[in-house]
Amino acid sequence: MFESIHFESTGRKTTNASKPEVLEKLRSIVGEENVVVDPQRVEPYGADAVKEKFPPEAVIFPKSTDEIVAILQLANEYRFPVTARGGGVGYTGGAVPIDGGIVIGTDRMNKLMEISVDDLYVVCQPGMRTIELQNTAAEVGLLFAPDPASYKDSFIGGNIAENAGGMRTPKYGVTKHHVLGLEVVTATGEVIRTGGKTVKNVVGFDLTGLMCGSEGMLGIITEATLKLLPMPEATSTVRANFHSMEAACKVLTKFTPHGLLPMAMEVLDKFCVEAVEQNFAFGLSKDANAILIVAVDGSHDEVDKNAALVEQIIGENGGFDILRARSKEEEDKLWDVRRAISPSLMKYGSLKINEDVVVPRSRVPELVAKIEEIGKRNDTFVANFGHAGDGNIHVNFVVDREDKDAIARARKCVAETFQLAVDLGGTISGEHGIGYVKAPYLDYAVDRPTLEIMKAIKKVFDPNGILNPGKMFI
Ligand SMILES: Cc1cc2nc3c(=O)[nH]c(=O)nc-3n(C[C@H](O)[C@H](O)[C@H](O)COP(=O)(O)OP(=O)(O)OC[C@H]3O[C@@H](n4cnc5c(N)ncnc54)[C@H](O)[C@@H]3O)c2cc1C
Repeated sequence: MFESIHFESTGRKTTNASKPEVLEKLRSIVGEENVVVDPQRVEPYGADAVKEKFPPEAVIFPKSTDEIVAILQLANEYRFPVTARGGGVGYTGGAVPIDGGIVIGTDRMNKLMEISVDDLYVVCQPGMRTIELQNTAAEVGLLFAPDPASYKDSFIGGNIAENAGGMRTPKYGVTKHHVLGLEVVTATGEVIRTGGKTVKNVVGFDLTGLMCGSEGMLGIITEATLKLLPMPEATSTVRANFHSMEAACKVLTKFTPHGLLPMAMEVLDKFCVEAVEQNFAFGLSKDANAILIVAVDGSHDEVDKNAALVEQIIGENGGFDILRARSKEEEDKLWDVRRAISPSLMKYGSLKINEDVVVPRSRVPELVAKIEEIGKRNDTFVANFGHAGDGNIHVNFVVDREDKDAIARARKCVAETFQLAVDLGGTISGEHGIGYVKAPYLDYAVDRPTLEIMKAIKKVFDPNGILNPGKMFI
């Protein structure tokens, strides 16, 4: 049950959270029905998308900031670990209580508090699903731009705590670019308010920025004020085949001289193409050793002009079988190929180790070529796809779950890939974060003095080390 390919586990820890008096106090804070200790019911809260299980001692479902304050005060008094959880679809084990203690499920804190069309912001609780926020904004003609592919399951709190990216990042940036202000309960139970409702705000240190990507280690986000944008009138998507991944990735920098910044630029290599074709029979060409998908948005006129330009640039740079969607349905079909990759890759093995290195986008062709070499050198299957437009490649080493040697080789590939990304001027994670999965590699990317400052910040927010222990720093 506690098997992890990432570290030796000593099994579930029993902490002070399991003391009857503590559970009684938790029940009095959130109500009997919102404290779950039944082993079967807590089990799903012991895993995220990494799919390694470390069930908590209890799952607590608070409804308000005040309840979270009381829980954290109790955790400090009795010194037990507290791990915040959103949708539980993180890719680095961030929401998983590897040191035991309680999980705070934010599911009940899912209210929309305010939406302002004039001032282009929305205020909501952290348990709102990303898709719900996007839909709510769209209903009043506005766009919440961050769009992780997990948007149907992920929560806003999880997006902020992981600083999630997505398809639209090349044009719109990542989650932190859309967070104006936060209410946070620090580990000691203090309520702090960062930022505000304005895009401009230079009063004091940027604690909003600090909380974005803090992986539930500094405080629990209890309310977020998020930036909205006018919804673009139209979007258009172009998909093209290439004879090599290198050729597809070389196109990424060809739009800039034309003054064009596509909204999304995604690539997939031949193994992804083969896998999705076998699984879903989209009718993809056997000659496609790579596929590039490029999307633009704006007014109808702009989009028509820019989509034609995208087709032209792709055609001039080795793309063939170029398809442009002429309707929303056609556009969805072009994107279906991209969405189908992740599950399809399981045809290559029963364990997929998915990393998300990032490099300056001009280095992507070199990155993918060298990752293929790493796979070959270590006799390990690797498939690459991802948000190439912002340099973020999802590297998938796929092996047999029962084959310990193959797993060890894949782990060697991971270490070499991280070093490669750093050597190319990038880093070890573009959007999935560190959690416990990448904690052993943090010093590949962060030097000692910087790491010391990060640890000192953690100490200020969480002097007793109760929030999400075992993550990021080991
Ligand atoms: C199929 C799939 C596709 C994905 N695609 C993308 C993608 O395109 N882009 C991308 O960036 N990521 C992607 N991810 C990764 C993941 O979904 C994102 O990191 C997402 O933001 C996680 O949200 P969550 O609500 O599930 O967070 P969780 O997994 O529940 O938690 C993640 C971290 O946030 C902390 N946390 C949660 N809520 C709070 C809170 N209220 N206060 C403080 N800390 C909190 C947790 O403690 C944990 O450390 C994908 C994952 C899957 C499975």
